[in-house]
Amino acid sequence: MMGSGMRFRAMVAAVGLLFLAVTVDAVAETKVNSVRLWRAPDNTRLVFDLTGPVQHSVFTLSAPDRLVIDINGASLGAPLSVNSSNTPITAMRSAQRTPTDLRVVIDLKKAVTPKSFTLAPNAQYGNRLVVDLFDNPADAAPIPAPTNVATVAPVPVTPVDPPVKLPPAPAGKRDIVVVIDAGHGGEDPGASGSRGQREKDVVLAIARELQRQVNGMKGFRAELTRTGDYFIPLRGRTEIARKKGADLFVSIHADAAPSAAAFGASVFALSDRGATSETARWLADSENRSDLIGGAGNVSLDDKDRMLAGVLLDLSMTASLTSSLNVGQKVLSNIGRVTPLHKQRVEQAGFMVLKSPDIPSILVETGFISNANEASKLAASSHQQALARSISSGVRQFFQQNPPPGTYIAWLRDSGKIAQGPRDHRVSPGETLAMIAVRYQVSPATLRSVNNLASDELKVGQHLTIPGTELAAKE
Ligand SMILES: [Zn+2]
Repeated sequence: MMGSGMRFRAMVAAVGLLFLAVTVDAVAETKVNSVRLWRAPDNTRLVFDLTGPVQHSVFTLSAPDRLVIDINGASLGAPLSVNSSNTPITAMRSAQRTPTDLRVVIDLKKAVTPKSFTLAPNAQYGNRLVVDLFDNPADAAPIPAPTNVATVAPVPVTPVDPPVKLPPAPAGKRDIVVVIDAGHGGEDPGASGSRGQREKDVVLAIARELQRQVNGMKGFRAELTRTGDYFIPLRGRTEIARKKGADLFVSIHADAAPSAAAFGASVFALSDRGATSETARWLADSENRSDLIGGAGNVSLDDKDRMLAGVLLDLSMTASLTSSLNVGQKVLSNIGRVTPLHKQRVEQAGFMVLKSPDIPSILVETGFISNANEASKLAASSHQQALARSISSGVRQFFQQNPPPGTYIAWLRDSGKIAQGPRDHRVSPGETLAMIAVRYQVSPATLRSVNNLASDELKVGQHLTIPGTELAAKE
């Protein structure tokens, strides 16, 4: 390791000299003004704030483990310091190697795998150099991510439902898994409010509260994509959902609009167009296709031809989208009880985080953080709880009507132990009134009277109301 590191170092030095020779006029005009740090469960991100663009190189040295960052055409504008507790970093030093080349050396507790890139200025920040230090998988005990968010008050614990006492789960009935995704994080603060409220903090607080509530519902388990203030790429978020075996993916955001008057919550599902093009993309990407084999209804796509694979994926995407719109509408109508709605219907857009072909996915915009009134509500723990409650209620209602096979909730429904509200049934080809009555365990007479049917004749596509069942009546 040491030998290759040294060779690499010599090469880097040579490149540095070459760079000096051709840019002799541009003498370290760029200043490195500060460094910021975020710890994620498996990596540490350093972001250097610069006054201009730079060339850079990064390499590691061992015994002791160090990371060396050479920033060409730069000098230190201010002393660099970070709080590196809970990270592999023990110390950070810097020195000017030449009048134009700054070297930053990071002392490490253990070896890391670095990745680095530069970012162009945006509305919030200037030029940046990002260095990600990935923990090596060999390190058995991961360093825990920080769990407190400084700007959000801790949420007081309130009791959660269910109001009815549910029977114990028989062996082998799994929980429904809801993966909750707090938008943005780390270097990406999302939208911000006039009093400095940041979307990334508000949505993490709501996501945590939602997780607590969902975990309090028997037969459900909630997981978070991010548990602290760090960035996860959009694809990374859907990958986490798949790895955790999500039955539903809920991404939490707060809106911003040029008009400070804009207000209200909204719920999004993927647009049909986004769904269609995404099916094509997944098919084109054989890696993703193999990734799906365990996820798309346990259908092996490997040994089937491409066209059949396409049809299966398309069906999966269509089914997911139908479920997404259904759960989205339930969440939306519950949210409408605690906060004004921006739109009365589930909207559809091509959001990247909604593009899992096999997992129903919704994105909840909890309100406009750009609106002063909504921003202060969004930052209040009581309102965060109310929003989380409305989302968890919508999620529960959806799964009580559409429980995935093999889950405790499916067992409850099938054994008639669950109270259920009225449902809608769309008549498929070949279905008779008697078949539908058996399927929903209601009498044909009840179906006829609830739907004002003069005869048993049904049309394909016709909508029938299935009456609700009462828990008390079943016990
Ligand atoms: Zn957002």
